[in-house]
Amino acid sequence: MSKSSSSTRFLPCGRPKIFESRQPNQELLEVWQTQLKSYLIAQGLKYTHQRWKIAELILLTGGHLDAQGLVEQVKKKHSGIGAATVYRSIKVLCDASILKESLTDANGRVVYELYDQAHHDHIVCLDCDEIFEFHDEKIELQQSAVVQQLDFKEVRHRHVVYAHCSFRDASR
Ligand SMILES: [Zn+2]
Ligand SMILES: [Zn+2]
Repeated sequence: MSKSSSSTRFLPCGRPKIFESRQPNQELLEVWQTQLKSYLIAQGLKYTHQRWKIAELILLTGGHLDAQGLVEQVKKKHSGIGAATVYRSIKVLCDASILKESLTDANGRVVYELYDQAHHDHIVCLDCDEIFEFHDEKIELQQSAVVQQLDFKEVRHRHVVYAHCSFRDASR
C-alpha cells in the first residue's frame, strides 16, 4: 500500500485516519450559545461572556474527548483556564443538552461528544485508543424488534465495541 498523499494522516497502528473530527461552524456555535443562555437563565444561573468563551473552546475541539483531554485542549488555547473550570463547563454543557456522555473508553474514562448528531455507535480501538463511528440499519432494526418483543419502549441505546485493529496485525 502506498502512502497516497502527504495530507493523509495515519494512526499509530498504520490505519489511515479517515474520521476527522467535525468542527462546528459559526451558525451552529450561535445556536449553542443561545441554547446555553436559555438553559442558564432557566436555572437561575448567570450567563457571562467568560462562561461562553470556555464553552466555545470545548465545542470547537469537537470529536470524542475525555475530560482530561478537554482540559489540555483548553489550556493550549487559554492557559489561564484551570481544570476545575473546564470540568464545571462540561457538566453545564451536558445539562444543557449541548454535549453528551457518549461512552467509556478502554481505560474507563468517560468520553464526550456533541449532542447534536445523528445516531451512531462506536468502536474503540484497543491498540491506538482511537474511537470510530458506525451505523448499521440492520442492527438498529433487529434491536428495536427485540426491545419490542420484550415489551419495552426504547429511550436510547449505546453500542460500544472494543476491538483490536487488524492493521496492527498486518504490519507485524
Ligand atoms: Zn445504534
Ligand atoms: Zn461518536
